[in-house]
Amino acid sequence: MIFHVLTIFPEFFEGPFAHGVVKRGKDAGLLDIRIHNLRDWTTDRHRTVDDRPFGGGEGMVLKAEPIFQAVESIWPERRLDQKVALLSASGRMFDQATANRFSREGELLLICGRYEGVDERVASHLADEEISIGNYVLSGGELAAAVVIDAVARLLPGVLGNETSAAFDSFQDSGHGEGLLDCPHWTRPAEFRGWKAPEVLLNGNHEEIRQWRKKAALEKTSRLRPDLIKGSGFGGWVPGE
Ligand code: SAH
Repeated sequence: MIFHVLTIFPEFFEGPFAHGVVKRGKDAGLLDIRIHNLRDWTTDRHRTVDDRPFGGGEGMVLKAEPIFQAVESIWPERRLDQKVALLSASGRMFDQATANRFSREGELLLICGRYEGVDERVASHLADEEISIGNYVLSGGELAAAVVIDAVARLLPGVLGNETSAAFDSFQDSGHGEGLLDCPHWTRPAEFRGWKAPEVLLNGNHEEIRQWRKKAALEKTSRLRPDLIKGSGFGGWVPGE
C-alpha cells in the first residue's frame, strides 16, 4: 500500500516511520510512505500556502489551490482505490473499523491542515472523507496523519511478524470478542514485588487460557470502556452483576 502525506512540514516525518513495525514494513516493500511538501505546488515567490479567512477573524487558512494542484499532480488520473482523507478536528472519528477499511485501499493520501484549518472546498470537492483522531484540537494534522498511517500499516498483510497478531488487538472484531479491548498481558518474572501473574497463564492449558483471556478482556472492557459492550453481542452483560 502507498501512503502519501501533504504537509508544510515534511521534516516532521523523519521520526515517526523510522522505527519498529512501520519501518520493517517499509524495508520489506510492503508499504511505501511518500511525503510531499505543499509549498512545491505554489507559484509565487514567497511560496504562499495560506491566506486570511473571508469574513474576518483570527488566524490563517490553508488555500485550496496548491492542495488541489498537489493531489492532481500526484494522481493525474485518480483511480477509485486512491483515497484522499483530510485531517480535521471536525471530521468523523477515526477508529479501528476505519483503519481496517483504509488498509484495503491501494493508496491513501492524507492532507495535514495547519493554522485555523483548510479552505472548505478541499473537504467538499477533493477529499473522500474528513477524519479526526479525537475530541481535542491539535496545532496541525501531522501528528494525526502519523497516527492514521501507523494504525493502518500494522494491518497490512505481512507487516506484523505473526499474521494473526492484529486479530487479537483491542477493537478488532476478530479478537477476544466483537470489538472488545485486548486481554491484559504479563511476562516474567511470575512474581514481581509480591504481585503475581495469574496462575492459569502459567499452566500451559491452551483452551483454559483462551477462555480465561476472553473473560479477562470482557471484564476489562466493562470496567474501562463500558461503551464498547453495548451492541457487542454480549447483551450488555457485566461481570459481577
Ligand atoms: N480551527 C480548527 C482547528 C484547526 S487546528 C477547529 O477549531 O476545528 C489545525 C489543523 O490541525 C487542522 O486543520 C487539522 O488538520 C489538524 N487537527 C487538529 N485537531 C485535529 C484532530 N483532532 N484530528 C485530526 N486533525 C486535527
